[in-house]
Formats: sequence, C-alpha cells, structure tokens
Amino acid sequence: MKINVLTTFTDMFKAITENSMTGRAVAAGLVDIDLLDIRDFTRDKHNSTDDMPFGGGCGMVMTTQPVFDCLRSIEGVREHPIIYMSPRGKIMDEELIRSLADQEEFTVLCGHYEGVDQRILDYWNIREVSIGDYILTGGELPAMVLMDSVLRFIPGVLGNQGSVEDESIYSGLLEADQYTRPRVYEGMEVPEILTQGDHKKIALWKLMQSMELTARRRPDLFRAWTESDPDLSAFTKREKKEILALSKKLLNTL
Ligand code: SAM
Repeated sequence: MKINVLTTFTDMFKAITENSMTGRAVAAGLVDIDLLDIRDFTRDKHNSTDDMPFGGGCGMVMTTQPVFDCLRSIEGVREHPIIYMSPRGKIMDEELIRSLADQEEFTVLCGHYEGVDQRILDYWNIREVSIGDYILTGGELPAMVLMDSVLRFIPGVLGNQGSVEDESIYSGLLEADQYTRPRVYEGMEVPEILTQGDHKKIALWKLMQSMELTARRRPDLFRAWTESDPDLSAFTKREKKEILALSKKLLNTL
C-alpha cells in the first residue's frame, strides 16, 4: 500500500513512521508513506501556503497553487481516493477504514489555519473526513489517526492478524474485560473462569460480558449487533439459548 500525505509539518509523521508497529511496517516495506511538504511547491519568495480569506473573517486559508502542484506531482493521483481531514467531513468509522484498507494507494491532505480553499476540494473531487466533533489545530494528528487505523488491516502489520477482527467495534460489540499476570495483584483476583483453561466456557463468558458491557455503554451498537444475525455457530444449542435469553433481557433494558 502507498499513502501520499500532503502536509506542512512532515516531521510530525515520525510519530507513526518511526515508532511502534506502524514504524516496523514502514521499515519492512509493507507500506510506503510518501510525505510531501506543501511548502516545497510554493512559488513565492516567502514560501507562503496561506492567504487572507475573501469575504473577511478571522484566520488564514490555505491557497490553491501549492496544493494543486503538490497533487499534480503524484503519479495517477486521481485514480485513488483523495481525503481531506476536516471537521466538516463524515465522521470516520469502520466502514471507511476498511474501504481504505482495500485500496492500493490513497492520498491525505492535512489542513491548517482555517482550512483550505474550496476550489481544491471541488477540482480534485476530495472527500472530507472528520475524526470527531471537536477542532484540532491541524490535519496531521487526524491523518495519523486514520492511517494508523487503516494500517492495522494490512497483513503483517500486527503480530497477530486475528486480533483485528476481535477488537471492540469491529466485532460488533465492545471487547470484554482483559487480564494478564499476576493472577492476584494486591488482593484483586482475575475472574476464575479465565484461569481454568476451558476455552469454550471462556468464549461464552467473554461474549456474554461483551454483550452486557455494550448494552450498557453503547446501546446503539448493541441493537445493531442483535439485528445483524450474529454468527453463534461456535456455541452449543444450550449456550445459544443462554445467549439469546441474555440478548432479550438486555434489549428490554435499553
Ligand atoms: N475552520 C475550520 C472549520 O471550522 O471547519 C477548522 C480548521 S482547523 C482549526 C485546521 C485544520 O485542522 C483543518 O483544516 C483540518 O485539516 C484539521 N482538523 C481540525 N479538526 C479536525 C477534525 N475533527 N477532524 C479532521 N480534521 C480536523
């Protein structure tokens, strides 16, 4: 996969290109992250990337020419999605992340100041994507959030690819509580069932715990999960009955 990033703060991306699992993915060549400094494409002597807004208003707006030239420098840029990180956009979700993970290449534009000239978005058919209903100073952190989340789907990026599907949200439910050693810490014990090695019983316990947690914290997700006809084929007839009874009980509490 190749990700082109248009930014005026290339160094910020070291956070993901040089650290942790995403850093290892870059080093292993699983992903090629091309950081393009918009300032390198400016043509005036001050290397300015912004100007005052037409119609007044506070703050500055990123200008067309450097971003246009920067996008033109990417071969075949129009053949892949171009995204502008923006609080006006659709809020990022699992569906968007999965669809980007299926792409061979995509491009992300990071805004600054009050945002970018609208003609950039219109001409390049750019999709606006938000990471939530709050405002950050620039698009770099949102872009890194998006990229990190997409990269988890690339085979080889995570040590254990199975964990992608097990995570909260992706599984349809929030994840059950987790524990690691020691078994007793300052008098607090790990739930006994997790220590007994009966994986079928553990799977049932985890699912039921996930269901209760999701119904309590995210009734929207829980309702969607019950309506999605979840795959319970790993469970026995008796266990399925237990799961369906809990589901019914929880739905009544929503
Ligand atoms: N004036 C813009 C508005 O009201 O929509 C906000 C501009 S913000 C201060 C500067 C840049 O940060 C934006 O151009 C965008 O790239 C990025 N940004 C800020 N909040 C964001 C969010 N919630 N999601 C995605 N990008 C965001």
